[in-house]
Amino acid sequence: MKKEFKTESKRLLDLMANSIYTNTDIFLRELISNASDALDKKHYLSLTDTSIKADNPYIRIDIDKDNRKLTISDNGIGMNDEDLEENLGTIAQSGSLKFKEQLEKADSNSIIGQFGVGFYSAFMVAKKIEVLSKKVNEENAYLWQAENAEGYEISKAEKEEEGTIITLWLKDDSEEKKYSPYLDQDEIRLLIKKYSDYIRYPIQMEVEVIADEENKEPHKELQTINSMTPLWKKDRKDIKEEDYDDFYFHNYFDYNKPLKTIHYKVEGSTSYTALLFIPSKAPYNYYTNDYRFGLTLYSRGVFIKDEADELISDCFRFVRGLVDSDDLNLNISREILQQDHQMQSLKKSIDKKVKSTLQTMLKENREDYEKFFKEFGLQLKYGAYENYGQNKDMLVDLLLFKSSKEDKYVSFEEYISRLKEGQNDIYYACGESVEKIKELPQMEKILDAGYEVLYLSDNVDEFLMNILHDYKGKTFKSINNADLNLQSEEEKAKIEKEASENKDLLETLKDCLKDEVKDVRISTRLKSYPVCLVNNEGLSLDMEKVLKEMKQDAGVHADRILEINPDHPLFAALKKAHDDHKDLSDYAQLMYDQALLIAGLEIKDPAQYSKRLSRIMIEAMQ
Ligand code: ADP
Repeated sequence: MKKEFKTESKRLLDLMANSIYTNTDIFLRELISNASDALDKKHYLSLTDTSIKADNPYIRIDIDKDNRKLTISDNGIGMNDEDLEENLGTIAQSGSLKFKEQLEKADSNSIIGQFGVGFYSAFMVAKKIEVLSKKVNEENAYLWQAENAEGYEISKAEKEEEGTIITLWLKDDSEEKKYSPYLDQDEIRLLIKKYSDYIRYPIQMEVEVIADEENKEPHKELQTINSMTPLWKKDRKDIKEEDYDDFYFHNYFDYNKPLKTIHYKVEGSTSYTALLFIPSKAPYNYYTNDYRFGLTLYSRGVFIKDEADELISDCFRFVRGLVDSDDLNLNISREILQQDHQMQSLKKSIDKKVKSTLQTMLKENREDYEKFFKEFGLQLKYGAYENYGQNKDMLVDLLLFKSSKEDKYVSFEEYISRLKEGQNDIYYACGESVEKIKELPQMEKILDAGYEVLYLSDNVDEFLMNILHDYKGKTFKSINNADLNLQSEEEKAKIEKEASENKDLLETLKDCLKDEVKDVRISTRLKSYPVCLVNNEGLSLDMEKVLKEMKQDAGVHADRILEINPDHPLFAALKKAHDDHKDLSDYAQLMYDQALLIAGLEIKDPAQYSKRLSRIMIEAMQ
């Protein structure tokens, strides 16, 4: 009985079937790579199940010119009827699925060809496809067939050997596109060399050999076409940048070139080769739970597992790539892998390499590093913050923040290299965006005084500062901190004088705001603004805001302190009103509300705020 492809598959299939303008060559790479995966899977099973023999693995290509048939066979794990249904009837499989996700966001023609598009790519070149397969340790074989991407059929079939045979009936040549080259052994050989040379199983083809010295007659001979050396096992000097890029595109479902490729070898108690990539763009789902991370683990060139997250620290989860070690015990289960001390030493070594690569990039290629940081800086910040700062020492020198100096990214190292004389703290200001931070009332004076201020605009930033505490002995301090301690002796004297002269006024204001603030004080940090809010050590106003957004505040509040600018005309007006025994409660509340608004915090009662403001406007206009 004929079944229809799932609707989501159909769209992709149509795209494939009509993609004459794109690089159709890659279908062969996709089918060979599936065959290679199938051999890997069988090999992996054979490690723990002695009834499975994975000897003499092969991938084989056969060409039948007369019938326009191209066949790709393997003796891998095979598929039963359920597998065929699930893997080839829907698009839910990894390669195709990721392709489809990218498709929604990009121009399809530009990405087919760079991408792991999977089995369906065969429909680019074939009008009819048959998959005959027998799964390991199973009795029956099954045949899956599909014509013109309309629908498919699965039936019982005969097959002696375990594995899969995929037969493609090539489309007819047209003016626009010729498919016959895929029936030419030299063309196929070139394609295998180009795209699949590194496949570690032999890709065999029966090749017609013309007469030579030994054999007087032309004859056929089974040849292994690929060199079987995985890319990472090759000498670095024999690898071109595009080889790395191709490998990356195909394996990691990205169509942007990697920002950095790290290919290195370590000899020691656990020797290994690693091929790692730092992407130039964060995947669209990077900061979600859907993002899968981890490196692929090989032992002596044989696949062990995917997404091995025990090989690299979480904070470097953006790194893609693989690790191949000769020294691993192959029969270890997943649980043991995690505790295995070899794995731990691998992880340490890989983390170190990633860190040093990033550090070198920061020093020697600032432009690239900033590109990297824009994509993954948030990850590094979370990484430094998480687990009570367990990884902070590893990451602290990789962090960048925008700063008031030239509005550029700076590192802590750069910041402390140009401290003002006598400056013992690293100042920062928090806000929703750099623009908003620049407008904070507290910023004017501190900048006038020549201090550099780091702009913190990510939610995690201030929590991070608390965890870091200091950088090389210089403490991180918010400009909102009540004890910023920036005043000169002269200014301190002025505050004291104003405070004692206006004790009664300050008490009255404090009394009006007793439910809102801990204190009302004279400020020296303000220039053109009348008021601002500051907080005591501990939970800050910005942290309170973040916790509230995450619904994790559990009713905790930062200690609010309202500071008043004694040089602002508003203060003089307040003094006068107080001397005239006017009721100050509306004024006090409005001062507090405007301080909240400037700080980007919600005012408690907007309706009351509007009423008060109207009352005062009416008074002023009368
Ligand atoms: P991907 O290979 O990225 O998962 P494909 O669309 O290429 O996506 O393949 C879908 C699935 O079909 C594979 O994941 C695999 O389970 C199965 N498959 C494809 N080719 C073979 C094969 N030659 N042998 C065994 N299974 C295969």
